[in-house]
Amino acid sequence: MYPRNNKQNDPFEKQLMSELFPTRRIQVLLPLPLSGVLDYLMPEEMMLEIGDFVTVPLSGREMQGVVWSLNAPENDIPIEKLKYVVRKAELPPVPDTLIQFVKWVAQYTLSPLGSVLKMALSVPRKFDKPKKKIFYRLSEDLPDKMTPARQKIVDAAIEDMPLAVKTWKEIAGVSDGVVRGMIKAEMLVPVEVSGEETFINPDIELERALLSEEQKQAAEHIITQQRTNSFRTILLEGVTGSGKTEVYFEAIAECLKEESAQVLVLVPEISLTTQWLDRFKERFGSEPVIWHSEMTPAQRRRAWWATIRGEASVIVGARSALFLPLQKLKLVIVDEEHSTTFKQDEGVMYHGRDMAVVRAMQSDCTIVLASATPSLETMINAQNEKYDWLYLGERHGPAELPAMSTVDLRHYKLRTGSTISGPLYDALKENLENGEQSLLYLNRRGYAPLTLCGSCGHRIECPHCSAWLVEHQKFKKLECHHCGFNRRLPEQCPNCEAVDSLIPCGPGVERVAEEIELLFPEARLAIMSSDEISSPSALKKMVEKIENHEVDFIIGTQIITKGYHFPMLTLVGVIDADLGMSGADPRAAERAWQQLEQVAGRAGREKHAGRVLFQTYQPDHPVLKALVSGDKDLFLEAEAEARENQKLPPYGKLASIILSGADRSKVLSFSKELLKKSPQYDNVTILGPVPAPLSYLRGNYRYRFLIKADIEVNLQKTVRDWLSQMKTGRGIRVQIDIDPYSFY
Ligand code: ADP
Ligand code: ZN
Repeated sequence: MYPRNNKQNDPFEKQLMSELFPTRRIQVLLPLPLSGVLDYLMPEEMMLEIGDFVTVPLSGREMQGVVWSLNAPENDIPIEKLKYVVRKAELPPVPDTLIQFVKWVAQYTLSPLGSVLKMALSVPRKFDKPKKKIFYRLSEDLPDKMTPARQKIVDAAIEDMPLAVKTWKEIAGVSDGVVRGMIKAEMLVPVEVSGEETFINPDIELERALLSEEQKQAAEHIITQQRTNSFRTILLEGVTGSGKTEVYFEAIAECLKEESAQVLVLVPEISLTTQWLDRFKERFGSEPVIWHSEMTPAQRRRAWWATIRGEASVIVGARSALFLPLQKLKLVIVDEEHSTTFKQDEGVMYHGRDMAVVRAMQSDCTIVLASATPSLETMINAQNEKYDWLYLGERHGPAELPAMSTVDLRHYKLRTGSTISGPLYDALKENLENGEQSLLYLNRRGYAPLTLCGSCGHRIECPHCSAWLVEHQKFKKLECHHCGFNRRLPEQCPNCEAVDSLIPCGPGVERVAEEIELLFPEARLAIMSSDEISSPSALKKMVEKIENHEVDFIIGTQIITKGYHFPMLTLVGVIDADLGMSGADPRAAERAWQQLEQVAGRAGREKHAGRVLFQTYQPDHPVLKALVSGDKDLFLEAEAEARENQKLPPYGKLASIILSGADRSKVLSFSKELLKKSPQYDNVTILGPVPAPLSYLRGNYRYRFLIKADIEVNLQKTVRDWLSQMKTGRGIRVQIDIDPYSFY
């Protein structure tokens, strides 16, 4: 018997056994918030290599982890105390590139290695043996004549690949009955397969769009670079509607000519990409492998297995797709690279775009960052020739960029309670009469962002956060957009009990919709916000409704800015262009510009010319000037200069440390202690502690330090050394955010 169960207690026997069976001490990393690896013993008959998935005992339970090293250095844990690896999973090992990536992300974000591994292993029951299933393949002897419906199945077949009934239905576009009938007639024969149905690979031979000269050159540049199998970052900048997607589709198709090549496409919000997926399907004949957090466990498992086996060729996902066990990554695309949704603000705080560049570097492949409004960081890297820079300056076909202008609200005063100025009203009316669609943009969910008592002036706040409750008429309630707390809309002021005294202040999309309904009772309108669109299928329905022109006015929050293409949409009215222009966030202006440029880019994408009206009290603001003049370079230069002067990213480094806890005095005294120990270097500035802008969140008091450092400083080391001087007390949470994007 092999001494695997660690139950022998006789020290003599133990000694004897270890002499008889020389054992190997290995290191296993577990998906737990631990910084280090744990030592285990490798049973002799188990052939293990680095990256293997193994099951090990841990405090009376079994856990699954990854072999991190085959040679653990001797340490103070005697070998007799170590336990044996229980089992090795029947899976290929984690590719070395992913191991390197996990290490990098942990080191960069100052997160425990195990927490980062957890992101790579967030697949339920991934080590289960796949169940046996019956699929069907086309029989080798088929009759010469067949019904048209059956012929469709024959035409759709991909060689002799066995498929599920459901898949046959889908790819051939026939009914269940047709498939069943062919099974009965033995034209489809059953095959037992173990595991999941493989994904249908993209068909790169399908007819494709004829690229314009500009597009062709861009695609060729990417393809040439990709073929070198070396790391390079390419910025693909192109005005909205210029065909960036077509260009990188071309590069994907080329890349897939290489056997088992894998392409990773990161998109900001996968649930918002229905139009993108349709286009992919049109171009490649089938959907890509999708990866995001809202998938069912079975879907995740299927996608993960296909990836680790190297079967998935194009994977489209949210930032978490970076942690997939890709075997042969050959090209990475980050679409809408400027999007702040790539930044994860909880747990391991990493930036998906930046880490995608690292992933590509470690995999020796090309990465394309695509956007109409690239981030300043990326622009500067392109200017410094760290990145290649491709530019598409024209919209595809006859479409022109929309005409943009401001409506000065100091001059065109809004009536009390109204959000639509005279010029915007006229434009909306004209558009409606012409049978064209209009979009009203306001990045505020709900009816009103603040409810105030007209008698006592009381403002209704969230009991758990320092934030106002937002009125949602649709649900007849007040809701906190930070913690989700909600309550019924009260009839009396909760403070002075006055009746009918509560006044909604400021507009949200629901309120704009109410006004439009009054102004244009005959018009058909739709609200696009995360409250109305709570699932991918709801979104799909809405997109179809707009595409089919069943809607005249769309009133939307930022979810409408994400790359949509609606041919009949010709007018965009921005209700409050001043929203979000300034604030604690050093990127506020840049972000405002990106959002407005993107929303404006929805107008006039086909033959009908588009126009955009920005309602504003500050038409001279550099952001609006850049938009209206179309000269964004001037604005970006000014932004860059301002950041350089203040040594803010990308000209300096920034980290934030948030200390939080339910006991305010405890958090405060901890912060003060920490301040006393703060690093004293010339090129590092510590700001704080100050109450964070949201000083009370989900029942916790929050204090924040900002660490500003010159570019040459090793920020991670500075922060690590500083924090290691103090033990975090009970009830205090420390969150480190390297290169923060969120400033609340
Ligand atoms: P972007 O991503 O730059 O905003 P898209 O790739 O979405 O632009 O292209 C805008 C529209 O123009 C899409 O409907 C797309 O199908 C179409 N389009 C772009 N390039 C071509 C082309 N070469 N041939 C045909 N249609 C094209
Ligand atoms: Zn709250």
